[in-house]
Amino acid sequence: MPSHVMNTYARLPIALSHGEGAWVWDTQGRRYLDALSGIAVNTLGHAHPRLVAALRDQVGKLIHTSNLYQIPLQEQLADRLCALGGMDTAFFCNSGLEANEAAIKLARLHGHNRGIARPEIVVFERAFHGRSLATLSATGNPKVQKGFEPLVEGFVRVALNDVAALQAVADTHPDVVAVFVEAIQGEGGIQPAQADFLRAARALCDRQGWLLMIDEVQCGTGRTGKWFAHQWAGVKPDVIAMAKGLASGVPIGALLACGTAATTFGPGQHGTTFGGNPLACRAALETLAVIDEDGLLANAQARGEQIQQALRQAFAGTPGVVEVRGQGLMIGIELDCPAGALVGQMLERGVLLNVTQERVIRLLPPLIFTQEQADLLVQALVPAVHGFLQTAPTP
Ligand SMILES: *Cc1c(COP(=O)(O)O)cnc(C)c1O
Repeated sequence: MPSHVMNTYARLPIALSHGEGAWVWDTQGRRYLDALSGIAVNTLGHAHPRLVAALRDQVGKLIHTSNLYQIPLQEQLADRLCALGGMDTAFFCNSGLEANEAAIKLARLHGHNRGIARPEIVVFERAFHGRSLATLSATGNPKVQKGFEPLVEGFVRVALNDVAALQAVADTHPDVVAVFVEAIQGEGGIQPAQADFLRAARALCDRQGWLLMIDEVQCGTGRTGKWFAHQWAGVKPDVIAMAKGLASGVPIGALLACGTAATTFGPGQHGTTFGGNPLACRAALETLAVIDEDGLLANAQARGEQIQQALRQAFAGTPGVVEVRGQGLMIGIELDCPAGALVGQMLERGVLLNVTQERVIRLLPPLIFTQEQADLLVQALVPAVHGFLQTAPTP
């Protein structure tokens, strides 16, 4: 019988039943090393004892109340996130696209408040911001947009890391109000926005009165070894979007803002029923507490260096491997040929990972990844890639 689940995902032929740390088991009892974390979501791995205890406790008290009332856990989470990011206020929602949608609305309102009737936002080639109409329009991938035209207008696209192109926009587009950029593009193939580029964007935004808005949905929540990936460049944005790893698997999104952006929205101008409910906020608070108390930022950095170093060494001079790049536990291995088949081959070797932009093997292990698990990952991946490249069609 055909599945009643809508066919929007090409799924792998396994179903996972339970997990512990960075290990998961499928319904056949096979064990896998999780080097994907449900796409950067399971920050603390699976069944983390502290998260489980916090969620059990919270479920027994309150799951949802409504934003019609004060929500102390939401206040606490806003305090914590603003402290971590140097921000002033937070808005809570339920996903990455919702955080980005809120950022886009905030930027437009910021423009209208400055007398700009048709505000425009600068976005980047190969960006991914989500699949709502506004966020897919901001996304720089024709495959995500095709069939859903007409796109939402008001976006100006330039190449990532092209300072001159960004400056040219200032001369040619008087209605620009914001620059919206991922600190490290995830779906775009683990492509970092260079530190110099982010600093130039910050300076240009200051000069033009634009908002610098950073999509940290995938690269945030400590994944790169700092709370936010843009902190490696030493820049401070006006707006930060978060989601994926923030509550270690419980759906949540957050928009952080500072300066004028912190008070751009007023009552009635944005909202969501589920956003910032007690369960999601509790999960996020516990996730952040564990990252902090267990030194998981340092671990992400150390494990990332370990993995990247081992991969660079193993692939040095290997024809077919273009580059190993990334920061902390957000790592891409770019091949010179389509690498999708490697996902299934690694599944057979007991490792969960993913390929993005067709040629980039993507590793996003949980922040609790141990040194031994990092070794295991490298030991499984290296021979698989070597074998794959020997049989892969030449580009
Ligand atoms: C995943 C992702 C999104 C979309 O998040 P959803 O929760 O799937 O809506 C947006 N931006 C980036 C950078 C992402 O990686």
